[in-house]
Amino acid sequence: MKTCMNCGREMKEGENFVLPYLTVRTLPVRDLGGEHKVQALGDFTEFAVCRSCASEHLKKEQTGGTSQKRLLGFLLVLLAGICVIPAALLLAGGAPVYLMPGIFAVFAGTAGLVSTVRDSRSRRTELASMGTEEALLSSARALALTSAPRKQGDEDLSYIPAEKALLPAKKGDLMVLYDLLPEIALEAWKQIEARPE
Ligand SMILES: [Zn+2]
Repeated sequence: MKTCMNCGREMKEGENFVLPYLTVRTLPVRDLGGEHKVQALGDFTEFAVCRSCASEHLKKEQTGGTSQKRLLGFLLVLLAGICVIPAALLLAGGAPVYLMPGIFAVFAGTAGLVSTVRDSRSRRTELASMGTEEALLSSARALALTSAPRKQGDEDLSYIPAEKALLPAKKGDLMVLYDLLPEIALEAWKQIEARPE
């Protein structure tokens, strides 16, 4: 019996999504040569999401509800910028060193708002083009990845869907899509292809 990683409820056979993933462990390294990363493949893992959580998440995605937190965050950055600029003009006579952070916040907040709205809209279009069951599965995947652990000690964890059918057309695409080093992308491809379904 598996439990849903979102609500913790025990799930019956057939009322759930069990999604295999390959874990990627990435360690960001900062040294004299600048910033680079050390990357290794971890284990295969299975994420389980129940149907009711998947359909709730689907509803949220369809109405743009999943992006509200991000929108609010960028809005606060934008507002902070708007408040700081007049203060810098009045109190510091517009000295660039005081003015720049406010201008930067306005730009960053606006860019964040625009990209969040754009992402949310393209996700909704994507979901609308799918059949009901396909959209539910896609939302289960999105929910699994938001609930999955992102850190283990100093390492960042990320996940590649471990199904042959979900491999992109080219190995290079796997590298770009999941931010992999070339040799790790090749190894991941090999392991996913060799994995018994
Ligand atoms: Zn659940």
